[in-house]
Amino acid sequence: MRDFSSGHEWLSVNTATVRKQQGIERPLLDILDLCARHEIRAISPWRDQVASAGLKATAQAIRTHQLALSGYCRGGMFTATDDAGLVLARDDNRRALDEACELGAACLVLVVGALPGALQGKAAHKDIALARSQVFDGIAELLQYAQAQRMPLAIEPLHPMYAADRACINTLAHALDVCDALDPSRSGALGVAVDLYHVWWDPQLQRQIERAGRDRLLAFHACDWLTPTIDLLNDRGMMGDGVIDIRQVRGWVEAQGFAGFSEVEIFSHTWWAKTGDDILSTCIERHKTCV
Ligand code: ZN
Repeated sequence: MRDFSSGHEWLSVNTATVRKQQGIERPLLDILDLCARHEIRAISPWRDQVASAGLKATAQAIRTHQLALSGYCRGGMFTATDDAGLVLARDDNRRALDEACELGAACLVLVVGALPGALQGKAAHKDIALARSQVFDGIAELLQYAQAQRMPLAIEPLHPMYAADRACINTLAHALDVCDALDPSRSGALGVAVDLYHVWWDPQLQRQIERAGRDRLLAFHACDWLTPTIDLLNDRGMMGDGVIDIRQVRGWVEAQGFAGFSEVEIFSHTWWAKTGDDILSTCIERHKTCV
């Protein structure tokens, strides 16, 4: 297992971690400057941030700062109420994949979607099996496009509390079932993003990480689970402040040969109230002591 205690060369910053400053959106190019000042080598940006900054300008800034991309957030949201909606989702995912290629991302992260309309406040139906079948078909179709462009797809299982509105793939086992069905040869084109916030509780976690193996472990996202958690979306904890045995899980992932970045991904009103320098300094310190 790699020793992270003396440096942060394997720390990546998911840009959502510093996306706000006292409630105001911080522009992506400012975030890249901030990361460069803290000698961060890798980031994972969000599509809406890239759209605001401009794809070309973002790509240029990434080159200027010599940043790697541990992933690109995100594709997915494959479900819809009708064929027209499915086509829109397909086209949007292809655009996301094109952007990931332009930015040189290691993978396109997929948050797969769930009951259509639920995220906006009213689910169009209650058929989660239908949602899962649309997700399966959507990933299958996108995989062909992704393979042609050599951009790996990383399915991110989300915690079951998001099963209705954000992702109806909620365990690593389910994500790996999809991988096995669509990419039985383990080509490297399809795998998973292991986000500790979503999977730390799973009694099968170690076994499923072993099942995933090096070929399917495409990303590792770190934060912590606070007790109590007061907001289901934006109360993620800084590594070391919660109940996740982060180092143990990193050990399981690295035992399979994963040697990529540890991407810190913290959506938190508490942390967004602090300065960007405070957030990144703390991320670096906790990366050394708790990851
Ligand atoms: Zn994540």
